[in-house]
Amino acid sequence: MQEVITFACTECDRKNYTSQKNKKIIKDRLELVKYCKWCKKHTKHKEEKK
Ligand SMILES: [Zn+2]
Repeated sequence: MQEVITFACTECDRKNYTSQKNKKIIKDRLELVKYCKWCKKHTKHKEEKK
């Protein structure tokens, strides 16, 4: 039940990272602080809604 999810920068909205999660176990949308090469800094990245 692993699904590929995409993380988008909350400042520029670009999709910078992909990951996988098991939607049966993790029901919340994930948030990560990651480096955005477009913003050139660490920003919050949110899981994209499909
Ligand atoms: Zn960005």
